[in-house]
Amino acid sequence: MKKHFLERFFSLTTDGTDKILTIFGIRIKFRRKHKERLLALKNRLNVLDDRLNRLSEEIGYHNYQINNVRNVLGYVTPPAYMQYFEVHVTDHCNLNCKGCAHYCPLVTKPVFHDIDKFSADFRELSSKLTVERIRLLGGEPLLHPDVNRFIAIARRYFPYSEIHLVTNGILLPTMKKGFWETLQGNEVFLDISQYPPLKDKQELYKQLAAENNVKLSSGILTNKFWCSLNSKGDSDANESYRQCLSMKNCPNLRNGRMMVCPEACYLDIYNEYFNEKIPFDKGSGAGRGARQGGGVRYLKSPSEACKYCIPCGRNFEWGVSMKDKSEWDVHARV
Ligand code: SF4
Ligand code: SF4
Repeated sequence: MKKHFLERFFSLTTDGTDKILTIFGIRIKFRRKHKERLLALKNRLNVLDDRLNRLSEEIGYHNYQINNVRNVLGYVTPPAYMQYFEVHVTDHCNLNCKGCAHYCPLVTKPVFHDIDKFSADFRELSSKLTVERIRLLGGEPLLHPDVNRFIAIARRYFPYSEIHLVTNGILLPTMKKGFWETLQGNEVFLDISQYPPLKDKQELYKQLAAENNVKLSSGILTNKFWCSLNSKGDSDANESYRQCLSMKNCPNLRNGRMMVCPEACYLDIYNEYFNEKIPFDKGSGAGRGARQGGGVRYLKSPSEACKYCIPCGRNFEWGVSMKDKSEWDVHARV
């Protein structure tokens, strides 16, 4: 084919990689720099990718080793020990005692605790703590339609602990067979708190427990209540804590946190009812650090709420709550 006139002097060809411009027989080669750079970058990326894969393999291996060590430590380090804690099944109650330490008369609508949260808290705790004695209470726990499940879950996660269900007894005569079987089958004690209006029912409660083969741990008659809130907040926290009768025995588990006592744990109920801002105990993460005793150690020191407390403030005879501040606050006019 005949070449174009200009093609005799100029031509643009390629040798497969580079472009070649020929001008009057002089060949100028244009290297495909970008392509080369791209190839070089691709190669480097492949190398980096390889390294990354090797690193993640190594990390995976180290994680595996760390977990192995953790597991071995779990076997040889005994979990932290806790003598006692208590936990609400409901916040409301059907007796409404004046000055109730759990502020139940001030709970304005029924509060049924969530079984799934309860189960998660117990699972977490049981992996970190050995607990000698646990009490399920409230409020009145028999008001909860799922009370049987709470009992079974507590036992599932703490197979060797002494577990008690605490009730004022009012609903006991109405409880179905399944309730009694759950208590009996899980070897859970029934604790009946005795209050003056129910004094005459105690024999009936004992009889019901005996008929159903349930272990009873009936307390003595409680006819005095204590008012201990110091709304001025000028108590010496250490001194209050030292005097405190509940400090050795009343930690409360609430929403995954362990609090020093019910008075401090549920103070938000009081605050909400009376529109107050008294600091309440935020507690320690029930599980966090518990293996090293962290959660337990926290309970061995006064909380901010102890400044707002006079443990042996003022006492009074049992009565029905009038939801008056003076039932809790030592400074409120009676
Ligand atoms: S029976 Fe117990 S929980 Fe209920 S109001 Fe009385 S003291 Fe509080
Ligand atoms: S607030 Fe402190 S001093 Fe008061 S009852 Fe609770 S732990 Fe005891």
